[in-house]
Amino acid sequence: MSTAVPRITILDGAMGTELRARGASVPDYRSSAWSAMALVHDPGTVRQVHSDYIAAGADVITANNYAVVPNLLARVGMTDRLEELTRLACQLALEARAANSRPAVRVAGSLPPLDTTYQSDLVAPEQDLYETYLRIARVLAADVDLVIAETLTTVREAVAAARAAAEVGLPLWVSWNLRLDAPLIRGGESLEQGIAALQSLPVEGYMVNCVPTGLVRPALELMRRCTDRPLGAYANSCEKAADQAALDATAVQTLSPQQYVVASERWVEAGATWIGGCCDTRPEYIAALAARWH
Ligand SMILES: [Zn+2]
Repeated sequence: MSTAVPRITILDGAMGTELRARGASVPDYRSSAWSAMALVHDPGTVRQVHSDYIAAGADVITANNYAVVPNLLARVGMTDRLEELTRLACQLALEARAANSRPAVRVAGSLPPLDTTYQSDLVAPEQDLYETYLRIARVLAADVDLVIAETLTTVREAVAAARAAAEVGLPLWVSWNLRLDAPLIRGGESLEQGIAALQSLPVEGYMVNCVPTGLVRPALELMRRCTDRPLGAYANSCEKAADQAALDATAVQTLSPQQYVVASERWVEAGATWIGGCCDTRPEYIAALAARWH
């Protein structure tokens, strides 16, 4: 490896994809509390997936609290279980770390979209977002090393998450989701606007996630022009998708782990130092990234 390449931090891969592959019931993300159900019904499988990502070489694993938000829990009659399930998600990740021989692995908590993923039209006003993110972050703060505000479709989600993370003293990484036809934040704002809005908040770095790999590099280049903070990406295992329906139906050409590694080389060239996988990436993708970058 060239000495010019900085140390790359490897994140984990998909949780939902992997739970489904192992027979856990993970309902569709639009209609349900999605991966939260696995905390209730298959906690051992969640722990094992974390463990497999650590064994594959992940430096950072993210607790499975993505769907543990009030609006999604309400759809399955579990509104009163937010704190309990958030804590359980953290515990499973911590147990996986404790059972492995890589104690330097960091456990992240998720600050996810607070309603259906990708639906920027359902994003609440900033103060409402802040109050819910603070409720989640207060639980996460007892257990995790950092938080990742992820799959965000608006600037105000990032601002609210940053305020909440700062309030509880957790380092924050911000990760936006993008439109499929342009390197813009999914809801239409620009990445430059997003970074400008967070300038005075303690955000450690910026990523994009849950997008086809082909969208990542232009986004990184745009972000690099307006910040010196670390950049990164965790994409889905496809290069492009015509529209969201194609992505949801996985009616897209899936990349192999090695093809995903080749995509990540374009990201590192554009300045990324945090790299992982989102939907349809599995432990073998993370192992391939670790083999390439560690
Ligand atoms: Zn995804």
